[in-house]
Order: sequence, then C-alpha cells, then structure tokens
Amino acid sequence: MPVVTGPARVAKAEQSNTIDIGGTSVAPGSCVTINLPIARLYTYENLSMPVEVVNGRRGGPRLFVSAAIHGDELNGVEIIRRLLCHSALKRLRGTLIAVPVVNVHGLLNRSRYLPDRRDLNRSFPGSGRGSLAGRIADLFMREIVAKCTHGIDLHTGAVHRENLPQVRANLDDPDTLHLAEAFGVPVLLNSDLRDGSLREAAMESGIPMLLYEGGEALRFDEVSIRAGLRGVLQVMRALGMLPASRRASLAPKPVMARSSSWVRAPQSGVLRLQAMLGSRVARGDTLGVIAAPLAGADCKVVAPATGILIAHTHLPLVHEGEALFHLARFESNTAVAEQVEALQETLAPAQLEDEVI
Ligand SMILES: [Zn+2]
Repeated sequence: MPVVTGPARVAKAEQSNTIDIGGTSVAPGSCVTINLPIARLYTYENLSMPVEVVNGRRGGPRLFVSAAIHGDELNGVEIIRRLLCHSALKRLRGTLIAVPVVNVHGLLNRSRYLPDRRDLNRSFPGSGRGSLAGRIADLFMREIVAKCTHGIDLHTGAVHRENLPQVRANLDDPDTLHLAEAFGVPVLLNSDLRDGSLREAAMESGIPMLLYEGGEALRFDEVSIRAGLRGVLQVMRALGMLPASRRASLAPKPVMARSSSWVRAPQSGVLRLQAMLGSRVARGDTLGVIAAPLAGADCKVVAPATGILIAHTHLPLVHEGEALFHLARFESNTAVAEQVEALQETLAPAQLEDEVI
C-alpha cells in the first residue's frame, strides 16, 4: 500500500470525520475511551493499553500524544491527564488521540523496560509475531500511528538523570521543524537516528513527530510538566486544531543544537555537582568534583567544550566511565542560557496560573 504523507494525509483526515480504533468507531463531536488488549499477565489477568480519542466536530489533523513508552517516565502521563482536562479541547478541530501509558507492563513494574528486558522504543515498527515489545510496537503502529497525521511522544531522563525540557526531532524536515519551534522550549536537538524508535517508524510512515524530554524517571517535575503541556497545546494551535491564543506567546524562541555529547566520569568516587541544569559552561569549566568517601585528592570533571548543560546525573555515586553531564553545543550559547532562565521563571510553580498555559 503506498504511504500517504504530508499534506495528502492531512487532506484525507479532513474529509473523514469518524475514526475507527480497535474496532470502535468514534463519531465527530464525541470522546471515547478505548482499551486496546495487550499480552495478559501470567496470572491470566487481562491487560490493555488505554486510549482516549477526542474527536472534534470539524475534521482536521489527527494528532497522537503518547507517554510512558519507557514505563518509568511519568511526567508525560501527567501532561496527558492535564491535557484531557483542558477547556481548550471544547473547540477542537480534528482528532486528538491520547495514549498516556504505552508500556503498561513497564509502568506496573516501575521499569523502563518490558518484562523481557527489551526497550519498547528500540522495537519499532515491530511485528505481530515478534517479541512482546515487537507486538506492542506493531499494535501501536497499526491502531494509532497509521490513523494519525502528526505525533508527539513524551519522555523524561532515565532514573537519577534529569533532562532540561527539550525537543528532539528531525529538524531537516520543514514540517517537523515548524512544529518543534511551535512547541516553545528553549532547546531543540536535531537527530534522525536509525534506532528502532517510535519516532523513526512514524517518520518512515510520513508522519512529522516530536519527542519531548523533561525531568527524570519516577518523579513529577512541575516545570517539565508545564513546559510539556504548554508545548502540546502550542503545537495543536500551530496545526489549526485549536484557536490561536489571545495572549501573546510567552514561549522563548528555541535554539537548535548542532551536536551534543555526554561527559563521563574520569574516575570512580563520590560526585559533587557544581554546574546547574540549563547553565552555560565554557570549555575547561569545572562541572563537578569526584573524591573518595573518606578523604584524598579531588578529581575535577571539566567541560570538554563550550555549551549548555541539558542533562545531568543526580546520583553522587559514580563509576569511572559513567555518563554524568550532557552538554549541547549551539551557535549562540548566551541566547540559550537566557531562554532557559526565561522558561524556568515563566513556568515556576509559584508564578504561573494555569490559564497562562
Ligand atoms: Zn524515554
């Protein structure tokens, strides 16, 4: 079957207002929860992936928003909960398909992985006769991705690693770049990896897709949640799914990273952090200090290049070679540093009323 991409795909979605997912038809102007059956537990308990379909009265783009593909990454679950309660959806044009927990087995186990230790986000597009991960990936591709025109996948850093709110996408594609800029986080990372991720599989299906990262696994981070919710709403406005906001956008103009790399521990020991997430560092600056638990000489961890810290570990116990700091390089580090500060001020819990989002 030929892949229908870009504007042709959107035009097709505009014509057909009823959407069918998992054998359930969702009429225009209705909102339905659909439970897609997945592999039951070995106790014989049935298990399903919950999907909320909000179908606007008027046809338009079909956007999926997914979270917890890594089962311990929870900020996205909360972003989707808040999105589904948002009053703006009353004026929705097109269709929102929200999947707050893709990796249900992982969420139950509070684990990034599936019970077979596979990474779901390395198992796309999957196969109906493949591993457990491959089967879930295949189901998601058939029932969600194949029926959408655009997608946003919500992630966090790993356990003990915090990410600055950022969007990763194939920014060489103009449609994807437009959405990434609309999302409104200070940092965009350009990547078009061949890694078996949902993003790669969606791209191959002709669907522009963003990956949002913010905060760390097994934690709620309020700034990351607010930045993510605001980002999804801004993308929906940019797509014409929601009316433009009457307020001037508070979102900073994002800056694109040319490259990024992890700074690793030069030796094992106890780490004291010295650089903060989002801060601008110059080549040779001290990011942290590693020492033995009792006493002994400090070993400095220095920045190998000038850049912005977009992630770091929170765990002070490190082994030699462990990834400690994620440094992104930009054309203008000063601009990014200012925008990171603006985002944190704008979205700080004490300073924001929900209506601003
Ligand atoms: Zn993830």
